Amino acid sequence: MTVRLLGAGDIRELAAELDVTPTKKLGQNFVVDANTVRRIVHTARVEAGERVVEIGPGLGSLTLAILEAGATVTAVEIDHRLAERLPRTAAERGVPDGALTVVDADALRVTELPGDPTILVANLPYNVSVPVLLHFLETFARLDRGVVMVQAEVGERLAAEPGSKVYGAPSAKAAWYGAWRLAGSVSRQVFWPVPNVDSVLVAFQRDAAARGTEDERLRTFRIVDLAFQQRRKMLRQALAGELGGSAGATEVLERAGVAPTARGESLDIDDFLRIARALAETSG
Ligand code: SAM
Repeated sequence: MTVRLLGAGDIRELAAELDVTPTKKLGQNFVVDANTVRRIVHTARVEAGERVVEIGPGLGSLTLAILEAGATVTAVEIDHRLAERLPRTAAERGVPDGALTVVDADALRVTELPGDPTILVANLPYNVSVPVLLHFLETFARLDRGVVMVQAEVGERLAAEPGSKVYGAPSAKAAWYGAWRLAGSVSRQVFWPVPNVDSVLVAFQRDAAARGTEDERLRTFRIVDLAFQQRRKMLRQALAGELGGSAGATEVLERAGVAPTARGESLDIDDFLRIARALAETSG
């Protein structure tokens, strides 16, 4: 099967045909470089027969590269004009029937995905990249690994370890699901329109076993949010409101094996989980 990828001219022609002017609100920066989309697919190690979900396929640059690798794609696109055009673009460019399923929806709201995908590959809309990633990892437990393109600062946060300057709530929450690593930077020049931020690829691999129950996750994320809302405060102060004052917080933290004088930025996700469990024991 030969799939013909989109070049810069094809992207502009398609946009003109659909009367699409890329909007910032939807993070519409389309990749116009075939090497870049092939590199993303290669980094994700997508092979023939695998099942991929793509968030925000846009005009189809990355979608076609995933299909070129012989995978099937479920693509979730919020912009109706783009969602409607994509199956035709795929057919015109050599994609076999049945390899692509387009879901015309807001990715933040989807709760079911046709095709049972196990790999996530996306050039994410920058304004919703972290919420959409967390939503997908939470909702689709079968998603095992993936590669996403995000704004450089967001990628650095997702992959940050405790103690690093950029480690924050997104880093801890992302770590709930598995391991993250930076997988290279991407030039601004490969996008149309050219964005005013730098981009990186981030790869993730889901942990073999779930860290905890859904209830424990919600409690843990609440503690994470509190700890990073007041980043410079010691945990016993940052969590005092939630854990029954400073004395109550000290007691819970000690039971969790976490120093009450520590700050959120030094804790990993398992430390936060132990605090959430110690708190659950206290509140019965
Ligand atoms: N994948 C294409 C590419 O690489 O050229 C487009 C990537 S562009 C950065 C982001 C895409 O996500 C746009 O097509 C935009 O319409 C879509 N999008 C934005 N918000 C979305 C949402 N909440 N759910 C689904 N798609 C969304």
